[in-house]
Amino acid sequence: MIDHRSHDYPNLLQRWRAVARAAGLKLEPFAEAGGYELFHFRSPALQATGGIYISAGIHGDEAASTEGLLAWAQKHAHDLATWPLQIFPCLNPWGLVRNVRTNEQGIDLNRAFSRRQIPEIRGLHTVVGRRRFAAALHLHEDYDAQGIYLYEIRDNPPHWGEPLIAAAQKIIPADPRARIEDRVSRLGIIRRRLDSLHIRRIGGLPEAIFFYRRGTPHCITFETPSEFALEIRIQAHVAVLDETLRLLGHSS
Ligand SMILES: [Zn+2]
Repeated sequence: MIDHRSHDYPNLLQRWRAVARAAGLKLEPFAEAGGYELFHFRSPALQATGGIYISAGIHGDEAASTEGLLAWAQKHAHDLATWPLQIFPCLNPWGLVRNVRTNEQGIDLNRAFSRRQIPEIRGLHTVVGRRRFAAALHLHEDYDAQGIYLYEIRDNPPHWGEPLIAAAQKIIPADPRARIEDRVSRLGIIRRRLDSLHIRRIGGLPEAIFFYRRGTPHCITFETPSEFALEIRIQAHVAVLDETLRLLGHSS
């Protein structure tokens, strides 16, 4: 049974609190922005290096990301404390409630990871610290998409794009387009090189490149097609999360 109040932030938080309770974890506030309090949690298994960073809802019009992350956490409530995780359930509540991409200042937070004057970015930097994760997973949606796809940085093999797409393809086929957002795509995988020119052209530092530069080797931006039914988009996010954990040797 899916709860369709996917743009109701207090309701989302309430459901996260229930998961946290079941998991024996505590949601901690890390910023206040647009009149909303933002939360994250760290599992006790998380060490100084390694582990997995997961965020959703940086763009408020991508509700299957926040719902998918929650559905995954509900599914694994009894394992969450034993897996090394830092999770940000919703990075842009103001946008989620209004179903818009940006925050209340009109800023695309996924182009603003070097701007510490923005409260939600400053708060995130503080609670993440200098941690080098084994993987960072950024959950998104795209209304132009014709299937699932992901971005992965090319510089650092082994790549995870293929197994992640294979897992999510069981739910939604990969986007067949050869170019997506002006980038070459192959079977739903956009494997880009890290380049500062690109960062300047798109207008600021994305979350994935922020983590990559800080020593996280696998930084994956996963996208579901937001014109597809909510329930299967949620399941596609769950599949990618499960596969990420499996690749790092954590499964239930
Ligand atoms: Zn997005």
